Amino acid sequence: MIKSINNCFYKQMRFKYTDYHIHTKWSSDIINNGPSFEDYLPIAKKNRMNICFLEHYELYKVENDKFHPFFNGKIEKYLDEIDEIKETHDFVLSGLEVDYYKERENDLLEFLDEYRKCIDFIAGSVHECDIGYPITEKSYILRLLKTKSLKQLIDDYFISVENMIRSKIFKNICHIDTVLRYINPNEIKPSEDCDISDKRIFNLGLLCIENGINIEYNLSGPKYSLGRTFPSKKVITNMRELGANIFIGSDSHDLKYFKDTISNVKKAYKIIEQIEAK
Ligand SMILES: [Zn+2]
Ligand SMILES: [Zn+2]
Repeated sequence: MIKSINNCFYKQMRFKYTDYHIHTKWSSDIINNGPSFEDYLPIAKKNRMNICFLEHYELYKVENDKFHPFFNGKIEKYLDEIDEIKETHDFVLSGLEVDYYKERENDLLEFLDEYRKCIDFIAGSVHECDIGYPITEKSYILRLLKTKSLKQLIDDYFISVENMIRSKIFKNICHIDTVLRYINPNEIKPSEDCDISDKRIFNLGLLCIENGINIEYNLSGPKYSLGRTFPSKKVITNMRELGANIFIGSDSHDLKYFKDTISNVKKAYKIIEQIEAK
């Protein structure tokens, strides 16, 4: 049997490919209008795609925002619900997309120690370097730019991703260059002193390889002005050639996008499979 990328990470799943990055209303950004677990199941099954629910887990918000889906220990309820679904659906994985904060490394480790065993897949992400100002939302970038330069904002992001990799807290890392979602030549134009080069992103990939960390090929980029994946096909191909382990995620927040992106997830697996890792 061909060793697929899907199966080199985890247990045998029903289908050949897995979309590792699915959000439901358990994620704070779509708590009021997001799909449920059950909404995704028939589409995934019909299209022969395993799915991993990868909800946002942002320590500061979980602790302080009483409207957060995981506030006050509700993660237990989340896991109970998924575990029940998993009993009858062998194409579902439980997961979390956990925000990394350098100053909270000990708390993150403690959290992961507690939950690693009962969650199939945990991945680390950087969305905010200034607490409360996620760079994945344009309005917050514009507000941040009143207090710091674009160069500083970009540097802060990449330094935080580097810290996350070096910390080795996470075995899997999502969208390593998502800061470019709105900051790119088509939208918020980087000034000349900004380094948004492929080399910078590629070097983070090298660091992941050195540390045995799996890298996400996140397909959500084309939804935004950047118009390409996180990271680009070229960069991910180069990383794979050097031996990177890649996992693929649509980063779905709604059903239509999930459905429309399934064929791209399969194509992405085929691209990665064709590359012999050295
Ligand atoms: Zn994310
Ligand atoms: Zn996500």
